[in-house]
This record gives sequence, C-alpha cells and structure tokens, in this order.
Amino acid sequence: MTAKILVVGGGIAGLTAATALAQAGNSVDLVEQNPQLGDLGGVGLTLVGNAMAALAKIGVAEECVAHGMPADTLTMRRATGEEIVKSPLPRIGGPDWPGATGIRRSILHAILVDAARKAGVSIQCNATVDHWHDTDAGVNVAVTAGGGLHHYDLLVGADGLYSDLRKRLLPDSTPQFSGQSIWRAEAPRPHNLQTTEIYLGGRHGVVGTCPVSADLCYFYIVQADLARTRRNPAKLHEQMAAELEGYGGLIPELVRTLDRPEKVSFRPLDWIIAPRPWGRGRTILIGDAVHANPPVLAQGAAMAIEDAVVLADELRRADGQIDDALRKFVDRRFDRAAAVVHASCELARAEVEQRHDLDVLAIMRKSTMQLAEPC
Ligand SMILES: Cc1cc2nc3c(=O)[nH]c(=O)nc-3n(C[C@H](O)[C@H](O)[C@H](O)COP(=O)(O)OP(=O)(O)OC[C@H]3O[C@@H](n4cnc5c(N)ncnc54)[C@H](O)[C@@H]3O)c2cc1C
Repeated sequence: MTAKILVVGGGIAGLTAATALAQAGNSVDLVEQNPQLGDLGGVGLTLVGNAMAALAKIGVAEECVAHGMPADTLTMRRATGEEIVKSPLPRIGGPDWPGATGIRRSILHAILVDAARKAGVSIQCNATVDHWHDTDAGVNVAVTAGGGLHHYDLLVGADGLYSDLRKRLLPDSTPQFSGQSIWRAEAPRPHNLQTTEIYLGGRHGVVGTCPVSADLCYFYIVQADLARTRRNPAKLHEQMAAELEGYGGLIPELVRTLDRPEKVSFRPLDWIIAPRPWGRGRTILIGDAVHANPPVLAQGAAMAIEDAVVLADELRRADGQIDDALRKFVDRRFDRAAAVVHASCELARAEVEQRHDLDVLAIMRKSTMQLAEPC
C-alpha cells in the first residue's frame, strides 16, 4: 500500500525521510518554512560511517564521499600543535564507507534536495503547518500556504531542535543548555590538513580543524560557557581570533583568515531527548526534534539520517499498518538515539568540569563502536 505523507522541515532529517519514503513508493509532500532549502548557516560537518551507511540506502553516499573529504584517522594534538596520537577511525558503517567524511553543509543539502526531487517529492518553501487534527484514518492538516485542510496518512515532524510540532505535541519536553558554546569558521584547507585534528589541553576543552573538501576546511572552538554569553555579532572574527591566541599547529594560519565577522558562527549548544513515543496518533517526530546533542561524537545528523531510513523501512515492512510501523520505528530508534545523547552530554560535562582524569578518546571510541551495529 502506498501512503500519502507530509514531511515538515527540509533539513537533513526531513529531506532524507522524504526521499526514502518516496523511493518506497509513497506520495510525499514536504514543507519548509524558509524561502529556500539549503545551507542553514553551518559551515561543515562530519559524517561518521553509520551516517554514510544510512545515506547509501537512499543512494547518495558515494556522492557525499566524492564531494567531501574522507578519512580513516583522527589526530590528537597538544595546544602547542605537537602530535599526541594519530588514532584509526573504525569503519563502523561497513568496509565501503570511510570512518568519517567531512563535508560542507551546503553541499550535503544540495545532494539531499536533488535526491528528493528525483524521487518525486513535492517541495514547498515558505510554508509550514498551521494546525492539524487526527482522524480515524490519518490526519487532516492545514498548510499555511496551501489553503484548506489536506488529508494525509502520516505527518512527519522533522522541524529541528526548536521544533514547533514538538512544542504542541510534547510541551514538557524542551531543549536543555549543555554549558558549552561553539565557534566555527570556514577557511582554505592547509594542504597538510588531511583529517580531523583535535587540540587538547589548552585554555578551551576542545579546538578542532576539519577538512571538508579539497579546497576548504573549518575550524572550531568548543568553549565552556555556563553564562550562555551573548557576543557582539560585529566583532565575532576578532573574538574568535582572541580565543585562539597561544594555540600552535595549523591554528595561527587559520586565524589569519578571520577578516570578517560573517565568516564566524557562534552559538550555544543545547540538547534534548524527548520521551517515547515521539508523537501522537499519525504524527511522528524525527531528527533533532526529538534527540539532539553537543556535537562531540559527530552523531546528530547521523541519528537524523538513520531515523529517516528506519522510518521508511518500518512503513514498507508494515504494508499499510501505519500505527504498527510507528511503534516499531520508535522501538528501533529510542535506545540508540538516547545512548548517543547521554554519551555526548557526559563528554560535554567532562569538558565543562575540566575532568582531566577521563580518557576522552576511550569514551568516544566505545560510544562510536556501539553504533557499528546496523540501525
Ligand atoms: C555546531 C554543530 C556541529 C554539528 N556537527 C555535526 C557533525 O559533525 N556530524 C553530525 O552528524 N551532526 C552534527 N551536528 C548535528 C546536526 O547538525 C543536526 O543533528 C542535524 O542538522 C539535524 O537535522 P534535522 O533535519 O533534524 O534538523 P535541522 O537541520 O534543524 O532542520 C530542520 C528544518 O526544519 C525547518 N523548520 C523548522 N521549523 C519549521 C516549521 N515549523 N515548518 C516548516 N519547516 C520548519 C528548518 O528551517 C530546517 O530547514 C552538529 C550540530 C551543531 C549545532
């Protein structure tokens, strides 16, 4: 049986879900509140092997590797730049996919939009859900730009960490502040930056550099920031440069590129794990709307992508029994996503509290290896 499905949100979760659902033969509409789909201001991100294995299910993993910067190692450095260890990154998504692939967010979005269009997803920007109500056989939805009520068999909320759908469905579940903020900026890739490098033990818990293409990389500071400080947007480049004073390795070369405030993104890091069942009736929430974490394990997008392909898989297996499919979807996803959120928050807390006794690399490796089990 094919279902009529509305996906709310054209981010990584929504686009992947819409594509997977349409490829399975469903009729899929997607609404995005912004005037256009695309890069939402993030510079780049890392797709760990499990993300790549899930992206392979909608046929875009090879393209992501081709447009990104694949790597099978992670380098740890002292703040001075001296190498501590070059650690292998296990291929947790299977032998075909690199341990980690850095990619520009704008490129990943473009690949996902293209896949959604090819799968036949009908995409409407400048649109959102105004209200909806359950019926015996689905859900009637008023789309802001659409006029009138439209019937769907399923409504998928993929509207991100500050989800409006979650606020209405699960009003007690709200994002929590991790105690950290993050600075990020894009720069030309130094030719000797081949893999993610993390600088430990300086004035900030973690400073990192991540290549995202042959030409570009991004660098970041994860900063303990219990006061959730507001920064002057006109001075972000100078402030980020000041925060990196004293760091060695490639950092001074990258800091020299900070010549404009628009190059820098600064934001607090919030997290959430919403309680089961992640929805009500024929409405289900996926991605950051129900689980988001500080990016220490680089697993937020990976979990969103896994949600998307698992939802499509359960609907296909259920052959029309949508309520069963939704129950099985949450059963398959909750523990895995919650484990990532809890491990990420534990590592974030350790950084805020400067717990130098913890073997951060070992915790990261253990949490990552648990994700080698297929989702
Ligand atoms: C600093 C930082 C670094 C990160 N690094 C990594 C990394 O290296 N690896 C990784 O795997 N993950 C990383 N993540 C996590 C990753 O970015 C998120 O998990 C991922 O973007 C979640 O995708 P999403 O589609 O659920 O939400 P979003 O990306 O937030 O997309 C939600 C979409 O819904 C739209 N929307 C919102 N409300 C409505 C509405 N009411 N109606 C219609 N549309 C709506 C938004 O405009 C947006 O397009 C990082 C996160 C941060 C903050």
